[in-house]
Amino acid sequence: MASLEELHKNWENEFSDIPLEAYFKQDLLRQGIAFDKNAFVSESYKKKDYFIFSFDRIPLSEMNQNENLKAPEEIRFSGGAFELKKTVVSVRINPSSNYKIKLSESKKMRCLYFLDEYIADIDFAPVPEYYNKTYKMPKPIGEIAPVIEWGYLIYLTVFRNCQYFGKEEECQYCDINHNWRQQKKAKRPYTGVKPIEYILEALSGIDKYDNEAKAYTLTGGSITSKLKQKTEVDFYLEYAKEINKKFPGRWISKIVTQAFNKDDCKKFKDAGVEIYHPNYEIWDDRLFKLICPGKSRFVGKEEWVKRILDSADVFESKNVIPNFVAGVEMAKPYGFKSANEAVLSTSEGLEFFMSRGISPRFTTWCPEPYTPLGNQEPPPLEYYMKLLRSYKKIHAKYKLPIPPGYGPAGLGKAVFSVSAFMDVL
Ligand code: SF4
Repeated sequence: MASLEELHKNWENEFSDIPLEAYFKQDLLRQGIAFDKNAFVSESYKKKDYFIFSFDRIPLSEMNQNENLKAPEEIRFSGGAFELKKTVVSVRINPSSNYKIKLSESKKMRCLYFLDEYIADIDFAPVPEYYNKTYKMPKPIGEIAPVIEWGYLIYLTVFRNCQYFGKEEECQYCDINHNWRQQKKAKRPYTGVKPIEYILEALSGIDKYDNEAKAYTLTGGSITSKLKQKTEVDFYLEYAKEINKKFPGRWISKIVTQAFNKDDCKKFKDAGVEIYHPNYEIWDDRLFKLICPGKSRFVGKEEWVKRILDSADVFESKNVIPNFVAGVEMAKPYGFKSANEAVLSTSEGLEFFMSRGISPRFTTWCPEPYTPLGNQEPPPLEYYMKLLRSYKKIHAKYKLPIPPGYGPAGLGKAVFSVSAFMDVL
């Protein structure tokens, strides 16, 4: 689109059943955000902690303004000529984006622009009080227990690598291992395996000083052999047990791991885990094989889906929320050529799970530069609008509840920042 007016007209003509806030949010996630250096002048905001992946459109080494050290974790836009409701968006740094944040001279505050045309006012994510306390562990609190989703979710990536390693095994959109290398090179104090004592100390600080966080996610890369002499199940289970023993019921307990069999799921349930995210990433069988080669060989798509269904017997279907990476099914060279074909395929997966009481959720694919699929433009905005339309429709058809563990749903209230699915429910 060559202007904000054209962008708005496109929404009016094609997608006005989807809120304008969701339209801008998906476009910001798709394209990323550029920052003027004056946007960083006041520093009292929470910066990007790089809590698992880079989620950036350029490598750290090309960030001429050190945006990796200055950009906020999330922004919240509101107001403007369209009277937009408050909408939280995860930050994906892209100096070439059509969207830019800079200080408005007339308003004396940060504002969002599309090709230099003012759209809305901007807030940066606040710094939680527990970030400002002192801890015994030799790592910054934002490295051990960062918070995202405007303070709602504590994100515990306890293993910062993945044993699906290299082009033949890594999910082709995922930069967990590449991001690890670039962050270490840039001297960010990344911790490969986070000691349980650090996690517990950090959570003690959160328990004492914070009332905003309502959930935590325990996650990390896949473990296909052993890590610290433990299998994948035993490795993550130990954290779940220790956390939930020390802080029973303090936060909603969620895990993002591979799809485990029923007996293993029971171990996590017994350890106090409430919500399970066995992410299937992409619905189409052919694309799953090509885009998730490690998962495909190690578990296989059919078995993965079976385990998702089985896990609902353990956690209850409403608490099984597998993620898919929305848009990666359009990635060149393997993917669908049109938004309609892609949404049709992905909706088949939604229909499959939702008809069984399981609501998947989605994140917005970010073509990260070091990944095999990273050197291309993101899917069109049309895809995301049609996906949101389909998601809402199927979710309503089966009268499913709002997925738990994401905070409030709805326009002006949602805090889930990496797609607009909670904004439109
Ligand atoms: S399993 Fe795939 S998506 Fe998950 S961390 Fe490993 S490479 Fe990334």
